[in-house]
Amino acid sequence: MGQESLSIVVKSGVRVKILLEELNKAYCDEWLAYIQYMEGAQVASGMPRVSLVAEMKEHAAEELDHAQKLAKRIIELGGTPIIEPKMWYKYSTCGYEAPSDPDSVVLLEQNLRSERCAINVYNKLIKRLDGRDPVTHKILVKILEEEIEHEQDLEDIQKDIQDFYMLKKKK
Ligand code: FE
Ligand code: FE
Ligand code: MG
Repeated sequence: MGQESLSIVVKSGVRVKILLEELNKAYCDEWLAYIQYMEGAQVASGMPRVSLVAEMKEHAAEELDHAQKLAKRIIELGGTPIIEPKMWYKYSTCGYEAPSDPDSVVLLEQNLRSERCAINVYNKLIKRLDGRDPVTHKILVKILEEEIEHEQDLEDIQKDIQDFYMLKKKK
């Protein structure tokens, strides 16, 4: 990282080593979230497969973008992103849930758990960075906004499924 930009971050009271560890943990989460969505999109079955697959692929692309944003910032702060996939499991907070049951309802639950975990991870980090290191703060807020959108999208599909079965019952 540029000397001046790094020294500004240090002076703001951020412990860069700890911040780098946290950004790297989030980086691992993003990779696993990306893979979880991609694998889920391959195997998804049951109603409403088409819209769910489209949403999952869109989210996968956004998780990959989050990973890239984090990697860029990690490097700017003088760190190295965790480039060994085996380590992603080890350092991830939110983990990986293989889509071993392809049922849409189950996939939605798995991915919702993962989004809710991500929302908590970013919320905590953002709170601690408030008023310090504005660049990292801004990146994390942008990511959090998208995680919140992801949660909403999945909840909307979940609701569609519920409404569908309610209607069926009424008939
Ligand atoms: Fe993400
Ligand atoms: Fe997400
Ligand atoms: Mg979406």
